[in-house]
Amino acid sequence: MRLRAKNARAASTGERTLDSRPVTEASQTQGETTLAERLVGGDKRALARAITLIESDDPLGWDLVREVYPRTGRARIIGFTGPPGVGKSTLIGALTKELRAADRQIAVLSIDPSSPFTRGALLGDRIRLSEHFLDPGVFIRSMASRGALGGLSEAALQVALVMDAAGKDDVLIETVGVGQAEIDIVDHADTIVLALMPGSGDSIQALKAGVMEIPDVIVVNKADHPMTDTMIREVRGVLALADDPGGWKVPILRTEAARGEGVAALAEQIDLHREFIESEGTLESRRARNLRSEVLGIATSRMRRRLEETIAGDARVQDLLEQVVRREIDPASAASQLLEHGDHED
Ligand code: GDP
Repeated sequence: MRLRAKNARAASTGERTLDSRPVTEASQTQGETTLAERLVGGDKRALARAITLIESDDPLGWDLVREVYPRTGRARIIGFTGPPGVGKSTLIGALTKELRAADRQIAVLSIDPSSPFTRGALLGDRIRLSEHFLDPGVFIRSMASRGALGGLSEAALQVALVMDAAGKDDVLIETVGVGQAEIDIVDHADTIVLALMPGSGDSIQALKAGVMEIPDVIVVNKADHPMTDTMIREVRGVLALADDPGGWKVPILRTEAARGEGVAALAEQIDLHREFIESEGTLESRRARNLRSEVLGIATSRMRRRLEETIAGDARVQDLLEQVVRREIDPASAASQLLEHGDHED
C-alpha cells in the first residue's frame, strides 16, 4: 500500500497543503510528503489508505484524523436511509451524476452493519455506481467492519471526516442494513434523505410511531409503480402530524432513480435544505449536537472497554455475576457494586 512519491508530490502541489506543523509519528513520512498532506491535497489513494487505517483500528488512523480535523467541516454530509431494495444505491448513483455535472467532488460511503462479508459484493452489485468508478471526482468506499472504538457508527464518522478533509464537496453516506446502527449513522448527517417506495408501509409506521426521526427530504422512489400516489398521500398524512410551523417543510419527491427522473429536484431540495439550515443557524446547532454525541459515544465505548479489562478474570466480579444468576442480587445493585469495586481499584 505504499504510495509512490511521484504521485504524492503531484498531489501535494495543490492549494490545500498542510501548514508546517511538526511532523508527528502519525504523519508517516513517505518520501517528501506525509499521508496527512497527501490526503488534504486530495490524493485518492491517500484517502483510501486513511480509511483502511481507521477501519483496522490502527493508531495511525486516529493520529491522522487528529491532524486533519481542523481542516474539516466544509463538506456537506448527506445521509440516505430507507429499507433495503427501495433504490438508495441507484438514487445515489443518479444523484452523483447530477452533482458531478455541477463539478462537485463526491465521496460515497456505503455502510452495511449487518454483513461483514459482502464488501466485494457491495461494491460490485449493490452500489449502482459503476459508471462513476473511473471518474477521479468520485470516491466510493464501502464499510462493513466495526472499525475502531467499538462502533461502526463512530468509525464511519471518522471516515466521513477524512473524506471531508480530502476536499470532497459532498459526502453521501448510505446505510444498507437495517436497525439502530443505520439510524445512528444517518443522524450525524447535515441533511437526511429517507427513501421509500410504494408499499414500504413499515417505514410509514416507524415514522408515525416516532421510532424514526422525521427526515429532511423524503423520496418516494419507483414512482413508475401504480401505488405511488397512495404512498405519497400516506407520507403527507404522517408529516401533517409532525408539522413544525416556521420550520423546514419536508418535501416529498417522486423519483425514478433507475431512469434519473426527479433526481435534479432531489439535488435542488438538498441545496435548499442546506440554505435553510445555514440561514436558521440549525446547521451549527445540529453539528454541535452530533459532535457532542460523537464524543460521548467514543468515551462510552472506551469506558466500557476499560471496565471490561478491569474486571476480566476478577473472581469477586465472577462471584457477583453468579449471585445475580441465582437471583440473590438484582442486576442494578450488582452494577453499583461493580462500579464501586472499579473505583476502589483505581
Ligand atoms: P437499495 O437496496 O435501497 O440500495 O436499492 P437498489 O438501488 O439496489 O435498487 C433495488 C432495485 O430497484 C434494483 O434492481 C434497481 O434497479 C431497482 N430500481 C431502482 N430505482 C428504480 C425505479 O425508479 N423504478 C424501478 N422500477 N426500479 C428501480
